[in-house]
Amino acid sequence: MPQPREGSSPPAAPQGVSGAQGIPGGQGIPAARPADAPAGLTDRYGRRATDMRLSLTDKCNLRCTYCMPAEGLEWLAKQAVMSADEIVRIVRVGVDLLGVRELRLTGGEPLVRADLVDIIAALRREHPDLPISMTTNGVGLDRKAAALKAAGLTRINVSLDSLHEETFAKLTRRPFLDRVLAGVDAAWAAGLGPVKLNAVLMRGINDTESPALLAWALEKGYELRFIEQMPLDADHGWTRRNMITAAEIRELLSADYVLSPDPRARDGAPAERFEVRLRSAGSAAAGSVTAEPVGPVMGTVGIIASVTEPFCSDCRRTRITAEGKIMSCLFSREEFDLLGLLRAGATDQELAERWQDAMWLKPKAHGMDHVGLDAPDFVQPDRSMSAIGG
Ligand code: SAM
Ligand code: SF4
Repeated sequence: MPQPREGSSPPAAPQGVSGAQGIPGGQGIPAARPADAPAGLTDRYGRRATDMRLSLTDKCNLRCTYCMPAEGLEWLAKQAVMSADEIVRIVRVGVDLLGVRELRLTGGEPLVRADLVDIIAALRREHPDLPISMTTNGVGLDRKAAALKAAGLTRINVSLDSLHEETFAKLTRRPFLDRVLAGVDAAWAAGLGPVKLNAVLMRGINDTESPALLAWALEKGYELRFIEQMPLDADHGWTRRNMITAAEIRELLSADYVLSPDPRARDGAPAERFEVRLRSAGSAAAGSVTAEPVGPVMGTVGIIASVTEPFCSDCRRTRITAEGKIMSCLFSREEFDLLGLLRAGATDQELAERWQDAMWLKPKAHGMDHVGLDAPDFVQPDRSMSAIGG
C-alpha cells in the first residue's frame, strides 16, 4: 500500500465501489457512475478524456534519477504485459466506443519492445486518421525512426535533459547521450516532426543549462518543453524545495530570451507554450513574460507545470499501464483491471463499461479532491513514472 506523507492519514474508502481500493475526494458526488452519465470517458467533474496514454512496457534501458532507482525495478513477467493483439483491441474499444481521439505510446521505454513497429502498423491499419505519437528516451531511435514512420507513427517526443555527456550520464545513469542525439536527428529526418523534446530540470545538476538547451532546440527547429519534476520517482526522493518551478524556469530563460504567451489555444495541452524572442536592449526586464515583445519569433518553448500551475481542471487524459490497468490520473491510487477482464472473455461493450466506471471516479486533482503535490494529505503512488507510463 502507498504510504501517506508524515502526519497525514489516507482518505476513507467509500462503500460498494467495485474494483477500487478507495476514492479520495468528491464528497457529495455519487461514486458509482449513474445510468444517465454522459457518453464517453466522462468523470464526476464534467471532464471528458479523449487523449489516451498507453504504456507498451515497464522496462527501460536508462535509470533517470527522477524516475527509476539505480538498480532498476522488478520487471513484469512477459505474460503479464499486454500482447500486440490485446493492445490493438483496447485501443479499438477506446476509439470506436469511447471517443478517444489521440493516442500516445509510452512506457518504460517503448523502443525496447521488439514488436513495436508491428503494433504501430496494426493500429494504423485500423485507425487511418488517428494521431499516434510516442514518447521515448531516444536510445536506438536512429535505427528505428524510418520504420516507425513507415508503420504509421505520426510524431515523436524525445526526452533529453542535457547536452553535456557527464551531466546526461549523471541524470540517466547511462553514457548514451550520442545515441539519443542521433535518434533525435533521425526522427526529424524520417519525418516524425514536429519533434518535441522533454527536459526535467534538477537543481544543481542541469538547471543552469536550460538557456543553452533552448538555444540548441531553437537552432535545430525542435520544440523544447520543460517538465516540473513530479513526486513519481521510485526512490521517493522528491521534495518541493528541490524542484525547479515553472516560475524559476521562466526566470532562468529570461537571461537570454523574452517569452510571450503563444496566441494558439492551449486546448487541454499540459504544456503552456510561449513564443521565444532573443532578449535585446529594447526587451522588457529580465524575468518577465512580456506582452510587448521585440524582434522575430525564433520558435516556441513549453512549460509543463504540473506541480505549481496544475491544469487538472482541463485534463483530458486516460492511461493504460503495460499490464492493462486503467489509471484515470498519474496520481491515482486506484487501478482498474481491463486486461484481466479482456482475458476472461469480456465483450467490447463490457470493456468499455469498466473503462467508463474507472474514469467516472477520476479524482479532481493530483489523486485527491484538491491540488497540492506537497500537501500533507498527498500520498505518493506506489508506481514510479516508468511503471505508469508518463
Ligand atoms: N522512457 C520514455 C522517455 O523517457 O521519454 C517514456 C517514458 S517516461 C516515464 C515519459 C516522460 O516522463 C519523460 O519525458 C520523462 O522525462 C518524464 N518523467 C519521468 N519521471 C518524471 C518525474 N518524476 N517528473 C516529471 N517527469 C518525469
Ligand atoms: Fe526510462 Fe523514461 Fe524513466 Fe528515464 S524517464 S528511466 S528513460 S522510463
